[in-house]
Amino acid sequence: MAKIIDDKLISRETTPSATIKNNLVPQKIGIFVWRILRKRIAVKEELDRRGIDLDSLLCLICNDAVKSVDHAIYSCKSAQEVWIGILKWWNLPLQSGITLDEMIKGSNALVSVPRIKRIWQAVVWVTCYLIWKNRNLKVFQNDAWATSKIVSEVQVKSFEWIKNRSRKLFSSWHQWIISPSSPNVLDVNLDPG
Ligand SMILES: [Zn+2]
Repeated sequence: MAKIIDDKLISRETTPSATIKNNLVPQKIGIFVWRILRKRIAVKEELDRRGIDLDSLLCLICNDAVKSVDHAIYSCKSAQEVWIGILKWWNLPLQSGITLDEMIKGSNALVSVPRIKRIWQAVVWVTCYLIWKNRNLKVFQNDAWATSKIVSEVQVKSFEWIKNRSRKLFSSWHQWIISPSSPNVLDVNLDPG
């Protein structure tokens, strides 16, 4: 079901040139966040707008608000718990008022060193992707939603992807977990793109 809806909504578009770039993560993650920015992922509000009839527009996880792209990835209580975990790991405060689009674009006044900014952006993208993936597992396969498991998954996946794409020394796993933003241990190649 999820796959069918997904295919239906993305088949008409996706020109790779239009994706925003961060070469620390696989291209599919870049395409995914580009779809978020363009509101091109299949959540109920979007399906409804496209005339696909659904029983209710309540979020299937929190049963609370209308489920929009922003709600699913960012403002749903379940998603917020994950974001809080990620910000805590990075030792960053919750910035009220920062939008999902700003997060995806890497805006965070508190992360100012360019190479760390790119790593932070990569982590944000991986978080979006894994919240979405776990959300679908919950909705379509009734898997349990475990915040700490998702936060760990973000740490593992982002470490693996960034490490594989960094030409120079990257953090050790231990350092990554205790201090992901330490400029002394992170030395990622800064080629543009
Ligand atoms: Zn919700």
